[in-house]
Amino acid sequence: MSKRIVILGAGESGVGSAILARKNGADVFVSDFGQIKKKYREKLDEYKISWEENKHTNDLILNADEIIKSPGIPEKVTIVKSAIDKGIPVISEIEYASRYTDAFKICITGSNGKTTTATLIYHILKNAGLNVGLAGNVGQSWAQQVAGENFDYYVIELSSFQLDGMYDFKADIAILMNITPDHLDRYDGMQEYTNSKFRIIQNQTEKDIFIYCVDDEVTISELAKRDIKAKQLPFSLNQKFAEGAYKENEIFKIKYKSNELTMSIQDLVLKGQHNTYNSMAAGIASQVLKIRKEDIRESLSNFQGVEHRLEPVLKVHGIEFINDSKATNVNSTWYALESVSNNLIWIAGGIDKGNDYSILEELVRKKVKAIICLGKDNEKIHKVFGEIVETIIDVQSASEAVKTAYYLAKKGDSVLLSPACASFDLFDNYEDRGNQFKQAVREL
Ligand code: ADP
Repeated sequence: MSKRIVILGAGESGVGSAILARKNGADVFVSDFGQIKKKYREKLDEYKISWEENKHTNDLILNADEIIKSPGIPEKVTIVKSAIDKGIPVISEIEYASRYTDAFKICITGSNGKTTTATLIYHILKNAGLNVGLAGNVGQSWAQQVAGENFDYYVIELSSFQLDGMYDFKADIAILMNITPDHLDRYDGMQEYTNSKFRIIQNQTEKDIFIYCVDDEVTISELAKRDIKAKQLPFSLNQKFAEGAYKENEIFKIKYKSNELTMSIQDLVLKGQHNTYNSMAAGIASQVLKIRKEDIRESLSNFQGVEHRLEPVLKVHGIEFINDSKATNVNSTWYALESVSNNLIWIAGGIDKGNDYSILEELVRKKVKAIICLGKDNEKIHKVFGEIVETIIDVQSASEAVKTAYYLAKKGDSVLLSPACASFDLFDNYEDRGNQFKQAVREL
């Protein structure tokens, strides 16, 4: 009898998993507690996969041999708890897909910088002529690519929620960008969140590579507790290494075995400290894969950047508008504030995931002229910054935020949308928030 695979959540990863499971001859059923998007319903029908929406029918789910759970569904929801109680293995799309490919896997996790670094590595490898796919949290689901493509390499962005459902998966190159507080609404404290991030190196052997940031305190204190098997290649802006990446004056060096690549930080297309880290991590991975130095340098200097990440939108009457809608936690906003010039109108707010804003205080004092709160509940921002910034205004839409910012700004100022919060109170997601912001800027 064929294996029964039930998929919870019919988004990109769920539908991709369903297609792969179908291809493997499984008896597949997809269940979503919300409404399934039209494009995904059509896809499921196209592959003759049965599905339900707006409910979870126990009888159709708890008879599964294995459940693939979307990373968006918390483990504490009833249906998942029931499945675990019954002893049904609950895994993630990535765990499932990994069984059906022997491609080389470069995996990236961290609280911030995943998409940028993953996309940058993909850009370098693709420009160098490798047969490579980009997957995970970005673009098309990995499972669907495994079902339909034949890539030799995959660059995979992994969120902690995906890592939580991974057991036998092994990354050939694992990259951990940083660990700073995020998603503490779903984790029982920082240690649990940290453990989840460290699953990126589970099952790695001496033959594998682990790339990480030495300047990240949580990573370093966790490393001290663990026995790491993989070859370690650190990167830092403050320390030097025999192997790994570091900064010396304004030069950035990557050393691996007898190879050394040097490049001026000036020539990196992605600006700001955080992006130097991202470029370092991407550069090390590319060196390990023996990409020619000229190719790495060229790609690091011509990468287009990723939408909604410190994305320059337009200059209107000398006022620069920057869209950093993807900054959904305090740490990413810190880097945004750090990398833009003074005289800032800062648009912040949304759904607070247990934010501690204190690390922003110094930068805000130095650079921010006014804060525009774009969220339903902005009390905390007023409380923290009320004494520091004279003007704090509440708005309820992107267009109101942009108009208010434009009114407050003078020639030479910048307007930065870098919310430090999730977007679901007023928007569908961070892309929607960023797009509405850009649209409003264009309409000025
Ligand atoms: P992720 O995929 O981990 O959410 P992104 O690359 O999409 O990360 O970037 C998210 C936000 O974090 C952006 O707003 C960006 O400005 C900021 N950021 C990017 N790289 C880093 C980094 N290495 N450290 C801290 N913040 C970063």
